Amino acid sequence: MQCELCGTNIRGEPRRAIIEGTELSVCSSCAQYGHEVKQISSSAHHASAKAHLPGITFHAPSRRRPDMFDQMNYELIDDYGKVIRRAREASGMSHEDLALKIKEKASLLKKIEREAIVPEDKVREKLERTLRITLTEELE
Ligand SMILES: [Zn+2]
Repeated sequence: MQCELCGTNIRGEPRRAIIEGTELSVCSSCAQYGHEVKQISSSAHHASAKAHLPGITFHAPSRRRPDMFDQMNYELIDDYGKVIRRAREASGMSHEDLALKIKEKASLLKKIEREAIVPEDKVREKLERTLRITLTEELE
């Protein structure tokens, strides 16, 4: 039997406690933070202060695995300008040639290659596709 809150193995009988409105089988150390089912009584003045630790909020551990795709983040690489220029030059295109190909302005490309501006996603994707490069990196 494992504590449904902290996951430690419960020795002996698990304690039933109401934590955030859910009845859980918990270990004795977790039970003191919740309202133990057995202790619910009508005598209000008997509900002692130690049953309520002020400021403690429980976040029961989620059993779902984090969705990898939701958490994937991409960031533009630091030397995107250099990578674009190198790839463009390697394929023998001038700024104008490449601009024509991706239907953007050559002046925009020059600014991107100087890293004076950050390309919008749609421009970046066109550059990546046309030059067969990757301009983003995955963030942890
Ligand atoms: Zn516990």
